[in-house]
Amino acid sequence: MEENVCPKCGSPLTDIIETPNGRRLQRCSAGEWDPKTKKTEGCDYIKWLPVEPKVLDEKCPKCGSALVLQFTRFGKKMKKCSAGEWDPNTKKVIGCDFVEWVNGTTEPLDEDCPQCGAKLVLYTTANGKQMKKCSTAGWDKEKRKATGCTYVEWLKKAPQVKEDSGGEEFLPPEPKE
Ligand SMILES: [Zn+2]
Ligand SMILES: [Zn+2]
Ligand SMILES: [Zn+2]
Repeated sequence: MEENVCPKCGSPLTDIIETPNGRRLQRCSAGEWDPKTKKTEGCDYIKWLPVEPKVLDEKCPKCGSALVLQFTRFGKKMKKCSAGEWDPNTKKVIGCDFVEWVNGTTEPLDEDCPQCGAKLVLYTTANGKQMKKCSTAGWDKEKRKATGCTYVEWLKKAPQVKEDSGGEEFLPPEPKE
């Protein structure tokens, strides 16, 4: 089969497109995703490309092998042990089964909160979106309520992405298995 030709209509595929979550795809050049109607105009063929796992400079706490950073189909990040492998037939992990989900990172900023004067921190979500928030902010799990200062400022890196959308609003839905 030709690599860069749409299997549905025979048109050439586009260059590789990278999503904000680090996933990669090629789409049929005879189709176009309309973010307003959330529909594809023309041919809707999409080829998702496998994401190469990134080897991290971190060791597995269980077995000492290198950890790799992987993205799930939904753009979530996890660190997993390179000595482990998922077997889709038995639905079991072969080898080391260490996995750590990456939820987001917080970096201290040298900026004061306009509401309370405490320092701000830069929070990067698992989807790669960034916001500045107050370092006194917290979350009370029992009461399910925010605690401390509520100041939040989203950084608009990708204006076409809605802040509450999960980050892939402008892309067509991912294929089902
Ligand atoms: Zn096509
Ligand atoms: Zn391991
Ligand atoms: Zn504050």
